[in-house]
Amino acid sequence: MIDYHLHTSLCGHAVGAMDQFLAEAAVKGLTEVGFADHFPLGLLGYTPQFKVTMEPGELEGYIEAVREQASRHNGPAVKLGLEVDYLPESSRRLAKIFSRYPVDYLIGSVHFIDDWDFSHPRNAEYFRQKDLKDVYSRYFELVWEACQTGIFEIIGHVDIIKKFGFRLDDGELEPYWRRTARILKDNGICLELNTSGMAAPAGEFYPGRLLLEICHNEGVAVTLGSDAHAPQQVGRYFPEALALLREVGFHELAVFSGRRRSLVNF
Ligand code: ZN
Ligand code: FE
Ligand code: FE
Ligand code: ZN
Repeated sequence: MIDYHLHTSLCGHAVGAMDQFLAEAAVKGLTEVGFADHFPLGLLGYTPQFKVTMEPGELEGYIEAVREQASRHNGPAVKLGLEVDYLPESSRRLAKIFSRYPVDYLIGSVHFIDDWDFSHPRNAEYFRQKDLKDVYSRYFELVWEACQTGIFEIIGHVDIIKKFGFRLDDGELEPYWRRTARILKDNGICLELNTSGMAAPAGEFYPGRLLLEICHNEGVAVTLGSDAHAPQQVGRYFPEALALLREVGFHELAVFSGRRRSLVNF
């Protein structure tokens, strides 16, 4: 069992050191984990409203620390990932940066619509002031663009726009789901089943069952992550997540080494 989405205290809004996350992973019986802390937005020349990522000067130390953990021979295997915000027009810069750093995988995540950090709890109220249809269409445009950059192996929490419970009805959402599944498939991008949504007002995984089913039918690969921002969150809701994946028809999870994907049975 794997957990490919762990943060650390470096990003400024998580608690716990790598050792503590790994100790918890061992307790939960995980065999492989990946750190995917927040890539420094400063390296993309962007200063967000709230600090949500590590600082540019901390990236090297993060990479070293994960590699040191990966070189240990006890406990779960450790992979080096990063969660990278998708900002329009950032892909050339990212490609250049990641030609220098040998990561195992990059998770591309959309957290910003223009300058609105919509998944930040302090910004949730803005959903009420906006046209929800516009918000969803803008969000998915960004997700689709992110998939087409060729930078990311995994798309993170693909429907996190529902985080605070503001959602369109299923009929309105279905065209977005179908297009998303097609774009994931066409670009060879892996979907993430991110269990953190269960603890958010949304009250369900990212993505929910219908999108998961559509992705499965389309032949999209899936990986699994808790988005842990504290050690005790490692592997949260995994029994439920695995049961859901099996019900939908998945039998394999994607794992990554040096940005190459392979599949493991679960
Ligand atoms: Zn975070
Ligand atoms: Fe995220
Ligand atoms: Fe995350
Ligand atoms: Zn995340």
